[in-house]
Amino acid sequence: MGQGGPDTLGHLPAALAACGVAPEAIGTVLVSHMHSDHTGGLTGPDGAIRFPNAELVLPEAEAAYWLSEAEAARAPEGRRRGFQAAKALAASYGDRVRFAGEGEVAPGIEAISAPGHTPGHTAFQVFSGGRSLLIWGDVVHLPAVQFPRPEAGMVFDIDGEMARATRRRILDRVAAERSLVAGMHLEFPALGHVRRDGAGFAWVPEPWSAAS
Ligand SMILES: [Zn+2]
Repeated sequence: MGQGGPDTLGHLPAALAACGVAPEAIGTVLVSHMHSDHTGGLTGPDGAIRFPNAELVLPEAEAAYWLSEAEAARAPEGRRRGFQAAKALAASYGDRVRFAGEGEVAPGIEAISAPGHTPGHTAFQVFSGGRSLLIWGDVVHLPAVQFPRPEAGMVFDIDGEMARATRRRILDRVAAERSLVAGMHLEFPALGHVRRDGAGFAWVPEPWSAAS
C-alpha cells in the first residue's frame, strides 16, 4: 500500500527487513494490477523507486488501460487518481518496466489472465520443487461473502460481469486442482485451499508451519 493508508498498512520495507531481504536484492516485481493498494509500496514518498535493481513487470492489458490518456480522459472522476498513480509508477521505474502477456514471466512463474476487477488483472502461479502456489491478486475481496456466493461483486470491479466470470472460473479450477492459493484480501494466513461447498465454495486455511 505504501504511505497514506491506515497505520496497519505500508510496512513492506519493515516486513522485508524482518525476512532478511534487502530492497537491492529484489530482481523482479510482478504486478497483479495497478490499484494503488497493490503498487503504492513500490515507490517512496518522494516517488523514488524502493527496489533499485528490480525490473517491474506489468501485464500488457493492465498497462494498456491505466497508461492510456484516452481511457484516463473518459474514466469516472473517482478513478482519476488511479490513472495518475499508475502513470507516476511507470515513470518512476522508467526503462526498468517490462510488459508481459500470459505464460512464463520469470523462471518458474506463469502469468494467468484474470480480467474484470481491472482490465488486465493477472494471477501468478509459482512452481517450485514439484509444488505450486497460485497468487490470485483480487479474485476474492470479501472472503466471507464471495466464497459462498462467488456471483457477489465488489464496487472496485471495473467490469463486474467479467470479474464474476473470472472468479467462478478460477475458483472452479483451484478447487478441481486442489491448488495452494494466496490472495491479498484473504484473512490471515491468506494462504490455503478452496473446496466446493453446495453451489459455492469454502476456504480451507493452510496454517503456517516452521517445517515448510
Ligand atoms: Zn484491486
